[in-house]
Amino acid sequence: MRKEIRLNGLPVVSGWGMGAAYFVGRAVQPSSTVTIARQDVGDEIMRFNEIREKAKKSYHQLTVDNGGSSTIDASILNIYQHILDDPAFIGQVVETISTKMYDLETSIRMVSEDFIKRFESSGTAYFKERSSDMVEVCEKLISYLYEDDGRTKTFIGPVVLIVLRSFTPSDILSYDKAKIKAVITTSGGKTSHAAILARSYSIPVISGVVNISDSIRPGDPVLVDAEKGVVYVRPTVTVLSRYKKTGIDEEVVNNLKAKWRRPVYTTDGVQIEVLANISLPDDIVEANDYGADGIGLVRTEYLLSNRKEMPSEDLQYEYYHRILDKVGKRHCVIRLMDIGGDKIPQFFDMPAEFNPFMGWRAIRIFLERKDLFETQVAAILKAGVGYNYSIMVPMVTTLQEWLEAKTFIVQVARKIGIPVPRLGVLFEVPLAILEMNTFMREIDFASVGTNDLIQYLSAADRNNAKVNYLYNPVEPAFLRIIRNTIKCANDNGMSLSICGEMAGNPMHTVLLVGLGLKRFSVIPRNIPLIKEIIANVSYAEAAESTSHIDAIESTEDMAHWLKTLNRRLLGNVLQQLPISVDV
Ligand code: PEP
Ligand code: MG
Repeated sequence: MRKEIRLNGLPVVSGWGMGAAYFVGRAVQPSSTVTIARQDVGDEIMRFNEIREKAKKSYHQLTVDNGGSSTIDASILNIYQHILDDPAFIGQVVETISTKMYDLETSIRMVSEDFIKRFESSGTAYFKERSSDMVEVCEKLISYLYEDDGRTKTFIGPVVLIVLRSFTPSDILSYDKAKIKAVITTSGGKTSHAAILARSYSIPVISGVVNISDSIRPGDPVLVDAEKGVVYVRPTVTVLSRYKKTGIDEEVVNNLKAKWRRPVYTTDGVQIEVLANISLPDDIVEANDYGADGIGLVRTEYLLSNRKEMPSEDLQYEYYHRILDKVGKRHCVIRLMDIGGDKIPQFFDMPAEFNPFMGWRAIRIFLERKDLFETQVAAILKAGVGYNYSIMVPMVTTLQEWLEAKTFIVQVARKIGIPVPRLGVLFEVPLAILEMNTFMREIDFASVGTNDLIQYLSAADRNNAKVNYLYNPVEPAFLRIIRNTIKCANDNGMSLSICGEMAGNPMHTVLLVGLGLKRFSVIPRNIPLIKEIIANVSYAEAAESTSHIDAIESTEDMAHWLKTLNRRLLGNVLQQLPISVDV
C-alpha cells in the first residue's frame, strides 16, 4: 500500500468519518485514471454506444430546432456528428476500455487527448480547428455519464464523497446517505445548503482542500477529521486506532434525547420553543426522536431533488400531507420553494446568471411563474386541512413584493374554498429586515434566515470557504441588527423565530435567549443540547447580561465576551454536553 498522505482544509461540518474515496461529478474537472474490473468491460462499451447515440440525437435536434438560423453553424454540428461516428475514435475508445481496462470517462479523455495532439501537430488550420470540436464532443459525452438518472445510488460499503467543484445539495441527496461517512470538497462554506444538509445527517465535511486529484485515487481508504480540518489518505494503523477510540458518547446523547421530549422553560419559568428544520418527510422521524416542539422550517424545494420534472399538484399534496401527518398536532411552518442560488432543479430552465444568489430566486421566481406558485400553494392548502400549519415566504425584499405574494395566496385559497392559514415572511434580505416595522401589520409571523442575511450583509458568499472569516454570526454589527429585530417583534407581540444555522449552535443559545428570542428552529440533533442549556439559564439574567452589547466594538472582543457570558451564566454545563461546534 502507498504511504499515508495528509491534506488540510476548513472544517465545515464537524465530526470524523472514514470510508473509500468516491469521486462525484468528475466531468467538470480533469480527472484521475480509474480502472474497472474485467467483468465490467462489456457494460462500459454498451454505455459508450448509448451516450454516443444520445449525443448524436442532441446535435441533430439542435440542427432541426435552429432551422438554419443558428448561433452554431450547421456545418459544425455536422462535424460533431461525424466525430461521434468516426470508426477510428470509436475503435480507440473501445480498445482502451477492453485492453487497458480504464473506465469510460478515462478512456474518452485519453483518446480525445490523443486526437487533439495529432490535430494540433498537423500543418493545416483546418485540422487545428478540429481540436476544439473534439473537446466539445468529449465533454458532451462525459456530461451524460454523470447525468442524474433520478435514482438514489447506493454503495456496498462506507464511502467518503469527494467533490471537485462547489458542493451542492444533490451531491448528498443523490446517494444513500447512511453510507456517506464524510465529504471532502474544494469549495463550500459552513452555511452552504449542502453543508446544512450534511450537518443535519451528521456527515462531517471539510472544504477548501487542494491537490485532491493528485493525492487521492478512487477507492483509497480516507479518514476525515473535520474537527481539526485534516484528511488522512491511506491512514496508518496508529492513526486509525487513535480515531476508533474517540466519538460522541451515545449514552449521554440518548439520555438527553429521552429527557427533552417535552417543553423547556428557563430557570425563571419562561417557555422557549425549540423547533426543527427539516428537508425531507423522513427527517420528521428524527425531529420527533430529538424532541422537537414542532417544525419551524420545511425546506420544500428538496422535493424537487432527483426529479426529472416539476412535481404535479397531486404529488406535492402527497408530500406535504405525509409531513403534516407525521408532525401531528404540533405546529409546522412550510416554506415555499426556495429555488435558485445553489438549488437549481435539473429540469428548471434557469437563465445563466452571473451572480445567482443575488438573482432570480425563491419568491422572485414565483411572482413571475404564477403557475408554479399556484400549484404549490394549492397543494399545501389542500394537504393542510385539519392540521396546525402556516406558510412562510422566502427571500422577500420589499413590502410591495410581500403584499403581492400574500394577495395571490389568499386568491388561491378562495378559489378552492379553503381557509387561509397564518402567513409569514422569512426575513433574510437586509432591506426587509431593516424595515421590519413596516411589515408588522401585514404578517402573521416572522422568522429570520441568518444564513442568507449574514452573506448579504457582509458581502461574503456563504458557499465560499475563502471568505468564511467574514461570515460571522457574532459580528457586533450583525448582533445589533438581530437584537433590534427581536425587539421589534416582541414590542409588536409578533411571533418570531430564528431558523438560520446560527440558532442551532449551542454556543449562541444564552446570547439569543438574552436578546429575547423565544423560538429557535434548528437541526434536529441539536434540540436536546439547546433545551438542556435553556433549562439552566435565567431569562432575566441573560437579558441583563446581553444588554451591554452596544459597548462591544470588535469581532475579537465580541467572541471573548460571548465565551465569558457562557461560562458565567452556565458554569460547566457546556463542558458536560457532547457538543460539536459548527457555526
Ligand atoms: C436562511 O437563509 O437562514 C434560511 C433558513 O434559508 P436557507 O438556508 O434555506 O437559505
Ligand atoms: Mg435563506
